[in-house]
Amino acid sequence: MKDKIPDKTGHFGIFGGRFVPETLIYALDELEKEYSRARKDKKFAEEFGYYLREYAGRPTPLYLAKNLSRYLGIKKIYLKREDLLHTGAHKINNTLGQVLLAVKMGKKRLIAETGAGQHGVATATVAALFGLECDVYMGEEDIHRQALNVMRMKLLGARVISVKSGTQTLKDAMTEALRDWVTNVRNTYYVIGTVAGPHPYPEMVRNFQSVIGTEARAQILKKENRLPGYLVACVGGGSNAIGLFHPFFNDKNVRMIGVEAAGLGLSSGKHSASLEAGEVGILHGSKSKILEDKFGQIKNAHSIAAGLDYPGVGPEHAYYQKIKRADYAAITDKEALEGFKLLSQREGIIPALESAHAIAYLKKSGKIFKKNAIVIVCLSGRGDKDLHESH
Ligand SMILES: *Cc1c(COP(=O)(O)O)cnc(C)c1O
Repeated sequence: MKDKIPDKTGHFGIFGGRFVPETLIYALDELEKEYSRARKDKKFAEEFGYYLREYAGRPTPLYLAKNLSRYLGIKKIYLKREDLLHTGAHKINNTLGQVLLAVKMGKKRLIAETGAGQHGVATATVAALFGLECDVYMGEEDIHRQALNVMRMKLLGARVISVKSGTQTLKDAMTEALRDWVTNVRNTYYVIGTVAGPHPYPEMVRNFQSVIGTEARAQILKKENRLPGYLVACVGGGSNAIGLFHPFFNDKNVRMIGVEAAGLGLSSGKHSASLEAGEVGILHGSKSKILEDKFGQIKNAHSIAAGLDYPGVGPEHAYYQKIKRADYAAITDKEALEGFKLLSQREGIIPALESAHAIAYLKKSGKIFKKNAIVIVCLSGRGDKDLHESH
């Protein structure tokens, strides 16, 4: 049943679809065809599984955070440890899947957009591994915030192209990457880093990231012999969250909570909470919830976590929100910093500032959880990159 979402045209209810210039339709059709072939191909699944296991380090542990559970008065909090993956975040699951497609399609060059730099690093990594050229678009502002990741990308052999338009963050980087793709579509594969963009990206990236939820589901059944009451994950574009949620879609008693960035507070206007505080609109090739002003101009997003600093969200989340399959909440910069310290000091695990939003949600709202609840939190990445932002 869950395979019918999205439909053939890439729609999740009213959301999703393909809103792109004519010149990209052919490229998207080509990608869609290659991907549907790969989906049915046992060899592709084996190869993808091989790299996830041997190169990226899957399966990741599902770790019972006893100290944090006791401290917050929640029965059992399990952390899905995507932070332990090669390159330090869940992004590598998706880039490995997409680079295998790019190679099959005979493309010689990868391009990507990046915010925190994690997707840029993950793309530069697979480009090095498969001997492809790689250009990463990154906002000037993020280049300053995430200097360490810029150095990593360069060392891996990628070019980092500074984007000086707009807010000089993720949205502008994605706009520039799409522009590059239009011009160089013959030899270039565009690796989108989240479940956004035109069809087939939201569906394809979701399926690559679903390894998170598929593993977590099997792991919790083995450890606890029952399903969790709650799944919690941070939402930027929404790929780590949908990767965890999707395999539980039909488990009606499993509640899902996506945590967006409230930045300086929803009423300040400086936030990235497209689901909580946005409108239905079109951004980067698909229809979803976005932050726009009354003239339809995209508003500036803000979050202390560069990976959440995006004025849109993947269409599948807008759909989950609409059909009430998932709930969404928002956590401020200040609360996220508390979550960052909390997990570091209680468990000896330094989370990415993005993931710290999910931890902070437990502290703020975990009291609404049922008494004997088991909670799985997606720890989407590690926090080394954020140390200089966090004091
Ligand atoms: C990129 C990133 C995110 C946000 O992206 P999603 O597509 O919403 O998962 C969250 N956490 C980390 C560590 C990231 O690098």
